Amino acid sequence: MATPAQNAAPRTAANAAENVAENVAENVAENVAENVAENAPGIPARSEASQTPQDATPELAAFREETRAWLTQHCPAEMRRPMTSEDDVCWGGRQFKFSSAAQQQWLQTMAARGWTVPSWPTAYGGGGLSGEQAKILALEMRSLQCRAPLQSFGIWMLGPALLKFGSEAQKLEHLPKIARGEIRWCQGYSEPNAGSDLASLATKAEDCGDHFIVNGQKIWTSYADQADWIFCLVRTDSAKKHTGISFVLFDMASAGVSTRPILLISGKSPFCETFFDNVRVDKANLIGQQGAGWDVAKHLLAHEREMIGSIGDRAAAKPLGQQAVAAIGLDASGRLADPMLRAQIAEFEADEAAFRLAMERAGDLGRARQGHPAMSSMLKYYGAELNKRRWELMMAVGGANALEWESERSRSGAVARTWLRTKANSIEGGTSEVQLNIIAKRILELPN
Ligand SMILES: Cc1cc2nc3c(=O)[nH]c(=O)nc-3n(C[C@H](O)[C@H](O)[C@H](O)COP(=O)(O)OP(=O)(O)OC[C@H]3O[C@@H](n4cnc5c(N)ncnc54)[C@H](O)[C@@H]3O)c2cc1C
Repeated sequence: MATPAQNAAPRTAANAAENVAENVAENVAENVAENVAENAPGIPARSEASQTPQDATPELAAFREETRAWLTQHCPAEMRRPMTSEDDVCWGGRQFKFSSAAQQQWLQTMAARGWTVPSWPTAYGGGGLSGEQAKILALEMRSLQCRAPLQSFGIWMLGPALLKFGSEAQKLEHLPKIARGEIRWCQGYSEPNAGSDLASLATKAEDCGDHFIVNGQKIWTSYADQADWIFCLVRTDSAKKHTGISFVLFDMASAGVSTRPILLISGKSPFCETFFDNVRVDKANLIGQQGAGWDVAKHLLAHEREMIGSIGDRAAAKPLGQQAVAAIGLDASGRLADPMLRAQIAEFEADEAAFRLAMERAGDLGRARQGHPAMSSMLKYYGAELNKRRWELMMAVGGANALEWESERSRSGAVARTWLRTKANSIEGGTSEVQLNIIAKRILELPN
C-alpha cells in the first residue's frame, strides 16, 4: 500500500497517464470529433502498432496480466466505446444523473476496487497501488479503451492537497467520498482582481472563534453551479499578502452561496461567478494552519497544471494523420493529398510523441523523487500549446465543413466548439506567459 507521503509526491506522467486526456471534461468533444473520421487506409491505428511494454519485474508482469483480465471481465462493453457526448462523462456528485446503467455500474465497480484513485491508500478509498502498478493500470485501460470511471476535481486537485496537508479526520471525511464519486468539488481561487496575481485575492474570512464568516466573490469557477462543495482560498489577514491566505472547504448549499453562469464563445457555459454573503465555515474545514493556505494552494496548483498539461498527450485518440487522410484522401503516391498539411501534421506528430516521452520521463523522475518542483509548469505550458496546435490542424483538416456550427452531421459543431474551447487551455490553471516566467526563473534560473 502506498503511504500518504508517497501519494503526495509531485504528480507527474504516471498520474497524468491515469488522467489521460479523456479526463478533462471538455475533451469529450474532441472524442466526438475523432470518432467522426473513419480509419484511414495504410496507416496502422496506434493500438495495432504498439507493443506490450516490458515490465521491470515478474511481479509487475503478473500484475499487468491480472489487471488486463480483470478489466476485460468487468468493464461493460458500453464503457469501452469512445464517448459521443458530454453525457458520457461521469462527474459524480449529489446532482449527477447517470446517462446509463453501464456508466453507474462502471463507477461502482471501479470505486469498490479503489481504482477511481488507484494510488491513494486503501484507508481513504484508494487502490493502494504503487506508482508502477498505477501506471500499468492506466496503460491497460488505455489499450482496452476503458473509459475513466470518474472525472473529478476532487481526484485531480483537492485529493493530493488533502493527502499532504489534511488532518487524519479531514482525510477520512473527504477522500472516500471523492473516491466513490459522491461529492463533486469546484475550485474557488480566481477573483475579478486576482488571476495571475492570485495572492491579491480579497475574499474575506472573518475569524469568529470556532468558525469563519466568509464574504466576497470568485470568478471563472468551473462547474460551480453543479458542484456540491468548494475548496476555496480566503483572506484571514489583510495586513499580510501570502501569509494572510487560508484554505477552506465548504458546502455549496450553505446559506449565502450563490452562482451566476458565464457564457463562452463556444456557446457553452462551464463556469460561473460565485458569490459569498456571510457564509459560515466551521474551522474543522480549515486545511493546514490559518494563514498557511498559500502552501496548500501552490501544491494543488502543481497537480492542476500537470492534469491540464496531460491534454497534450492524446495517445488514446486516432492520430491526426489518419483523420486527415480520411477527410482529404491520398495522392498518387499514397501520401496525404495536401503537402502543406502533411508537413505540418508530421511536425505536430513528432512533437506529440516527444511530449509523451517527456511526460513519461517526468513521471519516472517523480517516482524516484528527483522531479523538479517547477516541472508542472513545463508540462502545462507545452501540453496546452500542443493541444491548441492540434485543434488548429483539426480545423485545417476539416476545411469549410469544420466551421459548421449547428447540424446533426457535425454533431452540433463539435470540432469548431472544441477548437474555440482550446483557446482557454493556455489561460486556465495559470496562463502560458506565467508558466514561461516560472520556467525562466526556477528551471533556467535566469535573472529577474
Ligand atoms: C476554462 C477556464 C476554467 C477556469 N476554471 C477556474 C476554476 O475552476 N477556478 C478558478 O479559481 N479559476 C478558474 N479559471 C481562472 C484562471 O485560473 C485564470 O483565468 C488565470 O489564472 C488567469 O487569470 P486572469 O484571467 O485574471 O488573467 P490576468 O491575470 O488578468 O492576465 C491577463 C493577461 O496578462 C498576462 N500576465 C499577467 N501577469 C503576467 C506576468 N507576470 N508576466 C507576463 N504576463 C502576465 C497573462 O498571461 C494574460 O495574458 C479558469 C479559467 C479558464 C479559462
